[in-house]
Amino acid sequence: MHRKFLIAGNWKMNNGITDSVALVDAIKKRTMEVRFVDMLVCPPFIALGAAYGAAAGSLLKIGAQNMYHEAKGAFTGEVSFSMLRDCNVSYVILGHSERRTIFDESDEFINKKVCVALENNLLPILCIGETEAEREKGATFEVVEKQLKGCLENVSSKRAKDLTIAYEPVWAIGTGKTATPEIAQEVHSFIRGKLVEIFGKNVANSVRILYGGSMKAANVEALLSQPDIDGGLVGGASLVAEEFCSMIEVAEKLSL
Ligand code: PEP
Repeated sequence: MHRKFLIAGNWKMNNGITDSVALVDAIKKRTMEVRFVDMLVCPPFIALGAAYGAAAGSLLKIGAQNMYHEAKGAFTGEVSFSMLRDCNVSYVILGHSERRTIFDESDEFINKKVCVALENNLLPILCIGETEAEREKGATFEVVEKQLKGCLENVSSKRAKDLTIAYEPVWAIGTGKTATPEIAQEVHSFIRGKLVEIFGKNVANSVRILYGGSMKAANVEALLSQPDIDGGLVGGASLVAEEFCSMIEVAEKLSL
């Protein structure tokens, strides 16, 4: 089954308003002809509104890098789904490994956000993936299954069709060490199998599973050529318009 590729840029804590607008402008100009690939950038919270404005008239979508599960109230420093909706955000990255390790986010906590996002028309990109130590001791599948099931608790099949999963081996994030296409495909196929068990075949076949971890123009074609890799969640390489757009163009070429 063909799933439309999604190439998503996670800008992390980079680019204020001026730089975000400049980067969106550059991406927009270069991708005007792209038709068959979903394109997304996720700037920091403070730049979401400006990035949305800059993307107007193009197919480039804007996403957030995180959110809190409560609607409003005394949660200093947090941002809710309704605030993201107000900024015209379509996607939200949840459970990124940096949130899990630096900010101690658990599967249970991430699960609350996934449910709230799905109930409020925000498309979650749920990140899962093993550390280097976990891979070395042969625990990759166990870790990925635990994260997937923990973060998807109480998600109905009806809602699950709006999910995107990002498999991001922690050892490959920002390290320049990319998983080989075969290693990535093995885990993606495992994840797809678990989605079949949880939500049934139809939903599992429609959910996109992105790869993330030092993806760049030089390795994107080999990764996207795997049957269960439906796009990329790109960190470092998404900060350079030329590199990011080249990746989108490869995805477009593979979609024709
Ligand atoms: C990420 O942070 O989601 C990521 C995949 O980063 P990088 O592409 O820099 O490895």
